[in-house]
Amino acid sequence: MTKTPEQRRKFAAYMRAYRLRNLERVREHGRRSYVRNKETHSKCSKRWKDANPDKVKLSNRLSDIRCRVKRREYKRRWQKDNPDKVIAYTQKRRALAKEALTSVVKKLYLKHFCHWCWSLLTEANRTIDHIVPLCRGGSHSEENLVACCGKCNYSKARKLYWEWDGDLAC
Ligand SMILES: [Zn+2]
Repeated sequence: MTKTPEQRRKFAAYMRAYRLRNLERVREHGRRSYVRNKETHSKCSKRWKDANPDKVKLSNRLSDIRCRVKRREYKRRWQKDNPDKVIAYTQKRRALAKEALTSVVKKLYLKHFCHWCWSLLTEANRTIDHIVPLCRGGSHSEENLVACCGKCNYSKARKLYWEWDGDLAC
C-alpha cells in the first residue's frame, strides 16, 4: 500500500511525537539493535566517516575541548590521591636531569682550550660557563654550557656574550 504525501507527513509527525514521548524506550531499542547488528553499524559509521572527514575532524576537536577540563580535574585528583607516586616521579625526573648534567660536565672537562679566548685550560683555571647566564634565563642544557678559563668566566659574569665582547679578559 503506497501512502499519499499527506499520510506520509502525518505518519512522520506521529513517529516524531512517539519518539519524544518514549525517549528511554527508543534509546533502549537503538542500543539493542546496535548489539544485534554491530557489524552493519560499524560499516555504516565507517562509510559516513569516510564521506564526511570535515565533520569528523570538527567533532573530534569539540570533544577534545569538552574533555580538557575533565582531564585536568582527573589529573589533579589523581595527584592528590597518589602523593607518593608524584614524589617518586619528581625524584626520578630530577635524578635523570642530574645524570645528564654530569655527562655534559664530563665532556666539557675533556676540552683543552677556553671557548672564548682559546687559552690553554689547566686543572687550575678550568671553569664551566653558561653562555646565557642562569640569572638571564639560561638553562643547564648542553647547548648553553661551555668550558672556559676562569678569567673569561669572571669577566663575562652576568653579561651575554655580545654585551661582553669588547673586554675579553685574556
Ligand atoms: Zn678565556
